Amino acid sequence: MIEPGCRILISACLVGCKCNYKASEASIYASDAAFWDRLFRIYQLLPVCPEQLGGMSTPRIPCELQASSGLVLQGCGCVLNREGLDTTDCFVKGAAEALRLATLHGVELAVLKSRSPSCGVNEIYDGTFSGGLVRGSGVAAQALLSSGIRVVDELEFCKMPEVRLATRL
Ligand code: SF4
Repeated sequence: MIEPGCRILISACLVGCKCNYKASEASIYASDAAFWDRLFRIYQLLPVCPEQLGGMSTPRIPCELQASSGLVLQGCGCVLNREGLDTTDCFVKGAAEALRLATLHGVELAVLKSRSPSCGVNEIYDGTFSGGLVRGSGVAAQALLSSGIRVVDELEFCKMPEVRLATRL
């Protein structure tokens, strides 16, 4: 149950920060900015962009995992950008920073942008830069999940009855 006042870590691009690889906000924010802005009046939101926290530039060349996020976090897999540059260190650092902030803030829930190599929850791009998807989670999402924090993507969050009720105008 997500009560009003709940502490929620949220992907910064979902609340309008122009922090994705194109230096844009998430398209779901652009489609209903009023909904996402309203969340700040209902919940204690902690907007976080793990890729920026990991030291990546904005805009940036898109990246995809070449192994599961669990293996990446164990140092046994890598993240490459579309030009073949190894960006693993940035992703691991960003995940650690996101987890550190989540812990300091005492978050009860993380609402993360689907399909992202950092924030993806149920599925991510398959590493071929061809638009294919595989089941799995992004590196920061996995770090949060492994620490016991409940993680959902933005679509699951929007469908939660208590969220729909709380955000009703
Ligand atoms: S790392 Fe997460 S918060 Fe940052 S742009 Fe990508 S999906 Fe959004």
